[in-house]
Amino acid sequence: MPDTRDQRSRQSKSHGSLFRLIAASPSPMTMKQLSMSLGVSLPTVYQNVSELIERGLVRSCGEQSSSGGRRPNSVGINAGARISLGISLAGDSISSVAVDLQGHTIYSSCIARELPRSADALADLLQEETERFLKATSFSRGLLLGVMIAIPGFIDRESDTIFNSPLAGLSDIPITLLTDGLPVPAYAEAAAVCGGCAEYHTRPSDCNMAYLSIEHEVSGSVFLDGRPYIGNNNRSAEFGHICVEENGKTCACGNRGCLETYCSATRIERDSGLSLDQFFDALGRRSAEEREIWNDYVEHLARGIATIITCFDCEVVIGGRICQFLGPHFDNILLHIGERKLFNSHDYPSVILSKHAQYGIPLGAALMLIEDFISHA
Ligand SMILES: [Zn+2]
Repeated sequence: MPDTRDQRSRQSKSHGSLFRLIAASPSPMTMKQLSMSLGVSLPTVYQNVSELIERGLVRSCGEQSSSGGRRPNSVGINAGARISLGISLAGDSISSVAVDLQGHTIYSSCIARELPRSADALADLLQEETERFLKATSFSRGLLLGVMIAIPGFIDRESDTIFNSPLAGLSDIPITLLTDGLPVPAYAEAAAVCGGCAEYHTRPSDCNMAYLSIEHEVSGSVFLDGRPYIGNNNRSAEFGHICVEENGKTCACGNRGCLETYCSATRIERDSGLSLDQFFDALGRRSAEEREIWNDYVEHLARGIATIITCFDCEVVIGGRICQFLGPHFDNILLHIGERKLFNSHDYPSVILSKHAQYGIPLGAALMLIEDFISHA
């Protein structure tokens, strides 16, 4: 008799939890440990593990004799059984990261180039990048779960379109225009959500976190109780458009005084006439001109972050390409944020720098596919 939908759903959940536990463990787990951790019987664990071994996702790390033949007494993830690729499109580069089932990076690449300003040319570029990865690594494309494309901008899930991505030059473009030509299943997600996923991956699964992404645009993502909170229109956490200066500079969104106009990488490059490397180098040498721009930057960044904390009362992670330069200035930034504490509270949430400065966005994109696979294994 075929399984009912409920049976299949329970089975999938049970497999997913078991597989997640095995995947997350740095060392092999015994059947007894799995049974106790999941609160399910040993026979059920044996049955589910056997199925995962048959599919090549889990390997036996030791066997014992039993009346039914030899059975595994401990198992570990077969990390290379599936891989995924994340590709990030930024205004001036295309970067890729591939990960295995344990989330380990097995490939990374960043190519500086101006992105083409048409969907067709971008689709060709994505195909080229995917093929380049497959050639460079010699992985069988059968192992590749798919490609997640990180788009800097809004994605409309209702219509599956890229609603607006000024940096990629896309507006009202069906996602399939970018993905249909790829040799493997392909998907798209907002870059800030991908960046947040890379960070969130290393945290307890039920924690709350706000991720502030500072690239050439400023955006973000929020994770509440272990899930991304995307809002009613997939536009939550648009931190770049928090007002940090009443009647301030005009923003691309049509409002004035947005965080993005004061704290994007573009702002620094435009006002200083320098690249980010050159700017922070000059700042380190205490150049007065750069110091003035920086003081204004920090002031507005602190206002933006304090607003995020006021709204969400959770840890804030600063990510994106700017964060690789913030280390020497971070204490000063924290000082400015601290001056805005509500009621001078002692339990103010922490603000930290992302550990994934350069590859956070494509890494998070790749991890999203792995997470999804593990959940449904
Ligand atoms: Zn704005």
